[in-house]
Amino acid sequence: MKLYCLDVGQGTCNVLVLRGGRAVVVDCGPRGEEVLTLLKRCRVQYIERLIVSHNDSDHSGGAAAVLTAYRKAIGKVWFVKDSRFFGTPFWGKIEEEINQHHLRKDQLVRLELDEDNQPRQIYADRSEQLLLKVLAPTYYDNLDSLSKKAPNSTSGIVVLEKGERCVVFAGGAGYAEWQGVYEARKATLHCDVLAVPHHGGKVGKEKEVARLYGDAVSPRYAVISVGTENRYSHPREDVVCALVEAGASVLCTQITRRCCGNLETFRREASGRFDLGRSESQWADGRSGDSQHVACAGTVVIRLVGNRVIVERSREHRRLINVLSTKTDLRGQPLCRRTTASPQSKNPTP
Ligand SMILES: [Zn+2]
Ligand SMILES: [Zn+2]
Repeated sequence: MKLYCLDVGQGTCNVLVLRGGRAVVVDCGPRGEEVLTLLKRCRVQYIERLIVSHNDSDHSGGAAAVLTAYRKAIGKVWFVKDSRFFGTPFWGKIEEEINQHHLRKDQLVRLELDEDNQPRQIYADRSEQLLLKVLAPTYYDNLDSLSKKAPNSTSGIVVLEKGERCVVFAGGAGYAEWQGVYEARKATLHCDVLAVPHHGGKVGKEKEVARLYGDAVSPRYAVISVGTENRYSHPREDVVCALVEAGASVLCTQITRRCCGNLETFRREASGRFDLGRSESQWADGRSGDSQHVACAGTVVIRLVGNRVIVERSREHRRLINVLSTKTDLRGQPLCRRTTASPQSKNPTP
C-alpha cells in the first residue's frame, strides 16, 4: 500500500493506492491535475472513497475533476456541509452527477462523528488490514458551521489504521477541534505520519500549538503540503518548531523563502527528481521574477508494508536539507533545522 502526499503547490491532496487498481483520495488540491495524473499513472480504476476535509478551494477545488474522470467509479463521497459547501464547484458537480443519474444520494456521506460523538468508520478493507475513521468534527460542530464563515474550524480529521501503523489527515483542523479529539481519547494520538493541518499555518495561539503537537497528536513524520509562493507565510516557524520539538521529522512538499534566500540555487540542488507533482526543475517564470513551485521533499511517497512505514527518498531529502544548512550562498537555516523559534522572526498572522 502506498500513500502519496502530493506536491500540489499551495493546497493539499493525499492519495492512498490500494491493490487491484483502487484508491482512497483525501483532498484533491486546488486544480485536480496532479491527482488525476497520479491516479492514471498508478492505473487506478476505482476510487473507494473520495474524502474532502473541508470546502476551502485549496482542498476541494480538484474534487469536481475527480468526480468527472471517475464517473460511476467512485464508492462514496465524504464531505463537510459547512456554510461554504453549496457555493463550491465540488457541490455543483455533485448536483450535476446526481441529476444525470451518475451518482446516487446514498453515496454522499457527511464527514462527522455519529450522534453519540463516536468516531465513525469511513472505510474498511480486510485484505489490506486497513481501517479509515473520522475523528472530527462532531455532528453539532458541523451543524454550527452552517452559519459560520470559518471552514477550517470544522475540517474533518481522518485517521488511517493499518495494524499498529497510523496516519492522520488533518485537513485544516484547528486547536479547538484537536482539543475535542484529545478529550475524547484521553490520550495522545501517536501516529507514524501526520498530514499537518492548514499547511503549517496558524491553528491556534503559540502555547496551543505547542500543546497540540506532542500532547494531542505526536507524529514521527510530519508532511507539510505548502506552496513556495504563498501569501500566508506558511509554514509558520512556531508550528515547525513545535513539530520538531515533539520529535517529528518534517517534510515540506515545496520550499519557501523562510527557509532559503536564493530559491533558484536551491531549485538546481533539488532538481531532476521531482516528476510527480507541481514542482519544476526549470525556472519557468521569467516574467515576474518570483520563484514558484520549488520542490523541497516534493511529492512524499510513503510505503506501508506489513508493520513498517517507509518514507521513500527520505535520505536524499535529509542530504538536501544538509546542503541547505551548510551552503553559505543559500543563506540562513531552514525552518526544520531551527531548534527554537527566534522571537525576532515571528510570522505575521495569516
Ligand atoms: Zn482550509
Ligand atoms: Zn488549506
